[in-house]
Amino acid sequence: MKGRIIFATGNENKLREIREILGDLSRDIISMKEAGFEDDIIEDGNSFEENALIKVRTIGEAFPDDIIIADDSGLCIDAWNGEPGIYSARYLGEDTPYTEKNNTILSKMKDVPEKERGAQFVCAAAAHLPDGSDFTVRGVIEGRIGYEIAGEGGFGYDPIFYVEKYKCTTAEMSPEQKNEISHRGKAMRLMREELVKRLGDV
Ligand code: IMP
Repeated sequence: MKGRIIFATGNENKLREIREILGDLSRDIISMKEAGFEDDIIEDGNSFEENALIKVRTIGEAFPDDIIIADDSGLCIDAWNGEPGIYSARYLGEDTPYTEKNNTILSKMKDVPEKERGAQFVCAAAAHLPDGSDFTVRGVIEGRIGYEIAGEGGFGYDPIFYVEKYKCTTAEMSPEQKNEISHRGKAMRLMREELVKRLGDV
């Protein structure tokens, strides 16, 4: 019997997104909580890839017959040498509201000229397979830090992430539009391709 796909997240939005992208595969897609995994995983890697691998390897030990998928993502600001990067969720404190985080970034960036306001959302997705192997893929979306908060969709840093091509922030996009172009959407589609390539019938 085929194992399941266990996605290492407690975030309902991410789970919905991954179900949309991998939903036509023949395996059930469940969260780690639904699988019965509730331990805290310490993400102490030095890159998005390392953190995503830490998650899938830890869960893979508990569920060796299943495919485990995890992602790790964040906002990288060029003028700040890629910060907050892997520390995006923890920037200014894990529980600090994003209006405060976003306003702080805007005010720290207020004198930074347009051409130096480049930023990326990066998402590394990792998979751990029943044969014990693992791999990562990466999706990136280019944008820049806006001048004010704009939009109510999305989450996190979306209201300050301006995408030139669409002349709006990712918080002003519909969920479908964001999925189509986002770092996570891209990483999950690459993940799907790689799974099919490695396993054939997934
Ligand atoms: P994690 O991948 O769940 O650890 O999330 C990392 C953090 O990066 C989130 O808490 C957000 O602060 C930020 N982030 C990642 N993806 C997005 C996005 O699509 N929009 C806005 N913020 C994001």
